[in-house]
Amino acid sequence: MSDREKKTEKLRKDLLDEDVYNRPTLCTDCGGIMVFKGVGEYKCEDCGSLGYDDYGKARNYIEMHPGATMAEVAGATGVTQKSIREMVRESRLEIAASSNVFLRCEICGTTIRSGRFCAKCETAHHREIEERARNAKNINLAGFGMEKSAGEDGAKRFKRE
Ligand SMILES: [Zn+2]
Ligand SMILES: [Zn+2]
Repeated sequence: MSDREKKTEKLRKDLLDEDVYNRPTLCTDCGGIMVFKGVGEYKCEDCGSLGYDDYGKARNYIEMHPGATMAEVAGATGVTQKSIREMVRESRLEIAASSNVFLRCEICGTTIRSGRFCAKCETAHHREIEERARNAKNINLAGFGMEKSAGEDGAKRFKRE
């Protein structure tokens, strides 16, 4: 491993504790910073060279080869099946119906093609999250009101000039 590779590797680790999708951080051509452009695509801010993370690679391949199975995508892109499965679970990728990826709704158990829940349960799930957010917001607002009248304790914790 060359010095530059070591430096690159260290910087990569420093930048990302959790590098689940093998995000490109430095340009392989010039060592410039890879800037996120969206949907798994990155562009070197120095030379304009393009790079892709696992999501970008898998997504591009599926776009070019509709109906590809998880094994085909993994074989062609070098992205691990575990990583692909994770992306499918997060609804980031949709694998063709003919593929060998089988997912089940975590609530009702029906077969689904992407994500964690079927459409019906997902809607219900979102309503629940929204309800929780609403409750949390109400609690925060209540907390704020108390802070204002908390007197010296509050002033100590939130010094403002
Ligand atoms: Zn570059
Ligand atoms: Zn369901």
